[in-house]
Amino acid sequence: MEEVVVRKQDTELEEVDGEENVMMNNQRLFGVFAYPVKHSLSPLMHNAAFRAVKLEHHYQGFEIHPDLLENAVAALRTLHIGGVNVTIPHKQAIMPLLDEIDLEAQMIGAVNTVVRDEQGRLKGYNTDGAGYVQSLLAETSVQLSSAKVLLVGAGGAAKGIAVYLLKMGCPEIMITNRTTSRAEELAGQLQQYSREQSLDAQVSWLDWPEVQEGSWSANVIIQTTSIGMWPHVEESPLPKHLLHKDMIVSDIVYNPLETKLLQEAKQQGAEIHHGLGMFIYQGAIAFKYFTGVEAPVERMREVVLEKLREGG
Ligand code: NAP
Repeated sequence: MEEVVVRKQDTELEEVDGEENVMMNNQRLFGVFAYPVKHSLSPLMHNAAFRAVKLEHHYQGFEIHPDLLENAVAALRTLHIGGVNVTIPHKQAIMPLLDEIDLEAQMIGAVNTVVRDEQGRLKGYNTDGAGYVQSLLAETSVQLSSAKVLLVGAGGAAKGIAVYLLKMGCPEIMITNRTTSRAEELAGQLQQYSREQSLDAQVSWLDWPEVQEGSWSANVIIQTTSIGMWPHVEESPLPKHLLHKDMIVSDIVYNPLETKLLQEAKQQGAEIHHGLGMFIYQGAIAFKYFTGVEAPVERMREVVLEKLREGG
């Protein structure tokens, strides 16, 4: 076996056997599978987190073309990579390539975190919904047990969020979506989940025009569509006059940090909740799965905020 020389922390040289060089000392490799990956803030956030808790791991962005996802998953096993986050466009496609999928990720139908265990088995999780709910609980005055939620949007993020809202005891969710059939379909899936889990929650759907007219009442609004996202920063899914001081208005878009919906909600006296928290907490939960260590949430928020304020 050929010997290789590996530079260790730039100060000392160590000779290791070629077969062992993938997992030296306490260092492990993690990453994110995306296409494209250039704008991902996950490497910055996770590397800062590793440094903050004095772990020697490294987190890398992997740009994986959709046609090569299967090869990339095989490489995860071969190269002893500790785990990866998974984002657009791989969240569904990666599911059949894994050995096991967590129950909530199965229900949501998407995986955003893959962990490789000691035996080399790959398990998929979805930390988006749990991350959102943790962020809402940590950053607002919400009382989930009395929350009456209007969920705007019925895409992947909406589904993850709704599952965790129900799981954490939210008693009522109304869903509205531009394409009404998707709102109806999601409401049906959540009603079934609620029954199967004996949660006794009320889930319904509303027509998009009905919502614009204000024929509903909610004390929490959660905006999960891409409306208001850069460069369409002048758009908002709801008229300003429907927002008021007795509600929490939350938007999962975090570019810009404060969307038009949130600006108007603030002007109307509502409590507002930014989308950045969801990104930080989904990463924090993944970090715990990867390392077993509690994530340094404030340090993660600090580096991401700094980067976003510099202009991404
Ligand atoms: P998705 O599965 O593609 O769903 C997109 C949703 O947005 C659908 O409900 C879609 O409605 C709606 N939509 C898109 N353009 C619209 C428009 N012009 N008018 C009205 N509705 C529109 O996407 P996703 O994964 O759920 O992500 C949605 C948004 O959440 C994205 O902006 C994403 O960046 C953000 N996000 C943020 C975080 C975070 O960490 N903060 C995490 C995940 C996602 P139709 O069904 O009618 O098409």
